[in-house]
Amino acid sequence: MTIRMDGRSHSRGRRALVAAVACLTAIGCHRPATQQPARQIVLPPEMEYSPPPPLPSSRATAKSVEEIIVLGTSLERRPIEAMVFGRRGEMTLIMGGFHGNESTGVELCRSLVRYLREHPEVYPDRRIAIIPEVNPDGVAHGTRANRNGVDINRNFPASNFPTRPSGRFAGGRRPASEAETRAVLTATRRLQPAKIVSIHSIAAGRHGNNYDGPAHALATIMSRHNGYPVLPTMGYETPGSFGTWAGVDQRIPTITLELPRNVSPARCWEVNREAILAAVRFVPPDGGTLRAGADSGSRATAVGK
Ligand SMILES: [Zn+2]
Repeated sequence: MTIRMDGRSHSRGRRALVAAVACLTAIGCHRPATQQPARQIVLPPEMEYSPPPPLPSSRATAKSVEEIIVLGTSLERRPIEAMVFGRRGEMTLIMGGFHGNESTGVELCRSLVRYLREHPEVYPDRRIAIIPEVNPDGVAHGTRANRNGVDINRNFPASNFPTRPSGRFAGGRRPASEAETRAVLTATRRLQPAKIVSIHSIAAGRHGNNYDGPAHALATIMSRHNGYPVLPTMGYETPGSFGTWAGVDQRIPTITLELPRNVSPARCWEVNREAILAAVRFVPPDGGTLRAGADSGSRATAVGK
């Protein structure tokens, strides 16, 4: 069953009402980021397509559920979809294809979908959502950016989004200006994941388990399985990145899994399958809230991707 989450059928009045409530909630809940637990993501109304839709119904079997949820639509009218496995329990969100020229991450997500269809024993008491192609137009054209030329992994309403974007900045004129970004924001708010793995690829030698926010333990466990290094930073600035928004600002343990770009998708799946399943099974010791000494850094120093 396919569920639309862009809510085009909602009336303007209802949308305005919910937007106002969301706005008030956001103001009421505001606290400094250093104290904010990873719970109840509330977004400004302009960053969402819609008010919350009803819970997805399912074409469930006794053991497993796979829902296909449409989170949004790209400029070239491609759907941005999440596949959701499991009926109850903690949610892990896994995404690929932020950058359309990093097809290995897309392939890894597809391999994971195939694996989960055959292995419902992985999720009797947990949920997994997979968005294989965050930027489906970029994937179709093999481009890093979307069709507006915006780098989706620089377009998030993160604390380090530039107040005056310069000409060299490809993250768009304002945060969440792109449909792909809003689809991911909607997924995060809607699914309330306890942890997130965002899959990219990079030149071999620079690959690794890069983490944002309270995710050092998660990165370490993945490293035991895939042998990649644990990276608190990628070593370059990434204003407006998803990792900064989700990990540093929202306090959701967030891994940017950087695959070695010159290694085949089949080999990357072989190397990373157990790492991803370990991430799915991983329960943050403190429920994902801030832990002293295990953070990827402050707002000022968080970089990656
Ligand atoms: Zn990337």
